[in-house]
Amino acid sequence: MNRNLTSEIAAGPQMNIHDFANALEKRLKEEVPSAQLKREAEFERNHVIDPAWELSQAHPEICVSVHPAKKREMCGAGCGGADPSSRVKGCPRCWKESKGWSAVNAFGTRNNFDLVAKDREGKILAVEVKWLAFSSGKGPNGEFQRFIGQCALAAAIHDEVIGVCGFRGQPRKKFDEQEDAVRKTMRGIGVRLVLVQAKLNSKK
Ligand SMILES: [Zn+2]
Repeated sequence: MNRNLTSEIAAGPQMNIHDFANALEKRLKEEVPSAQLKREAEFERNHVIDPAWELSQAHPEICVSVHPAKKREMCGAGCGGADPSSRVKGCPRCWKESKGWSAVNAFGTRNNFDLVAKDREGKILAVEVKWLAFSSGKGPNGEFQRFIGQCALAAAIHDEVIGVCGFRGQPRKKFDEQEDAVRKTMRGIGVRLVLVQAKLNSKK
């Protein structure tokens, strides 16, 4: 666990979902993924799930659920229990239970998100993750649009939504020409966009 993070937040007051979203957004913006990362699952695990899980371990009043890991290990003392040390990241029982309150069912579609969390008052958060590449300057338009759409769907029922989009490769157009306009529009419907650019020499 990141020592600075732990000492900074461990002794703090109880968080609600908005405090958690603030802290997580700040933390995710500090991530510098490696441009060598190819798979979205790796980006998601190293740069989104792990930091969110660390934060929730320091703040057990926030229950985080993520997609089950390969070994399908379950929480020690029941799920969502008072003892945060017995919680298991990627517990399949927690994940299944979370679908009931986190999925957005609309127009005959069922939409799930990459990471979800709930506070003591039942307020909820969703995180949607995307790992995109520019190849010879060409933008991943379709995938980006899908990501924005998922974030908008999440905002229909979630009290907080964070959309984390990692980019690798070099865009042909100026990266942030209308970035602020998109960011502002999404914030207006309750979505915090975190856009991170991969670095060639980053170790993670
Ligand atoms: Zn569990």
